[in-house]
Amino acid sequence: MSTPLLRIKDLKKYFPIKVGLLGKVVGYVKAVDGVSFDIDLGEVVSIVGESGSGKTTIAKCILLLERLTYGKILYNGEDVTLLRAEKLREYRRSIQAVFQNPFLSLDPRMNVFDILAEPVKINMKLSREELYEYISSLLNMVGLDRSFLDKYPHELSGGQAQRVAIARAISLKPRLIILDEPTSALDVSVQAQILNLLADLKNELNLSYLLITHDLSIVKYISDRIIVVYLGRIMEEGLSEEILDKPLHPYTQTLFSAIPDPYTRSSRERIILRGEPPSPINPPPGCRFHTRCPYVMEVCKRQEPDEIRFSSTHKVYCWLYVEK
Ligand code: SF4
Repeated sequence: MSTPLLRIKDLKKYFPIKVGLLGKVVGYVKAVDGVSFDIDLGEVVSIVGESGSGKTTIAKCILLLERLTYGKILYNGEDVTLLRAEKLREYRRSIQAVFQNPFLSLDPRMNVFDILAEPVKINMKLSREELYEYISSLLNMVGLDRSFLDKYPHELSGGQAQRVAIARAISLKPRLIILDEPTSALDVSVQAQILNLLADLKNELNLSYLLITHDLSIVKYISDRIIVVYLGRIMEEGLSEEILDKPLHPYTQTLFSAIPDPYTRSSRERIILRGEPPSPINPPPGCRFHTRCPYVMEVCKRQEPDEIRFSSTHKVYCWLYVEK
């Protein structure tokens, strides 16, 4: 078996809750609580779930913006928390991100040329002419012409700004781009254009994507594999067609029943999810979804279900599928 590009092993991220002047720790928010998955080169993996499910924290841990509480992140088999010097710089170049609101991630005081040139100047040795040509070619790859080089972020539309953010993300020739709700701040008509662009770039540059989203209508469009998370834990994981055609976990069924018809192969009756997710400070015992699950049984309240495999790629954590 080949080594995956990225392997997440039993990742936990707990945020301490501190009170008083001395900052006494009185508990922890368990944002991510034992998550494992792989991403292969050229693969698009989507993590879906409601807000507060831990998906953005997983992304921040991979980007080394948060320290792990427990677990490992392996890049080409190497523990990223142990990388130093050039190896750490290489990892940071290889993993880039595109966020929801491009205007928050582009410096309003810099023009497009400087925004794109900044990381390139630090990481590549190019002459002035080569730099200009390289930046122009990046713009070209995201569907913008050279006339944008002198523009400032406030002169761009949302779609154009997101294209610039994507150009910056590909500028250092990464292997993986984390897409954190990349289209949710854009008009619907522009969303499709950005998704098409991302799909084209993935094929051209052999990129992997980790898509973090609560917008399930874009998940089907772009994903090879889907991971469903709830309260910091994986509920179900499988190939895109497995999850979309036959969602097994009641939480997945609820989430995907809400996708508008044009995106699904069969129309499903919409299932309304009861209540709000419980607090990640004190997640419910047993199955974390049991307080909202329409099929809850006594065992669900006491004991967390083990992984049940339906194929080499499709697994679910639910007592409904445990043979009695
Ligand atoms: Fe529902 Fe029980 Fe399955 Fe959890 S384990 S999703 S509570 S049936």
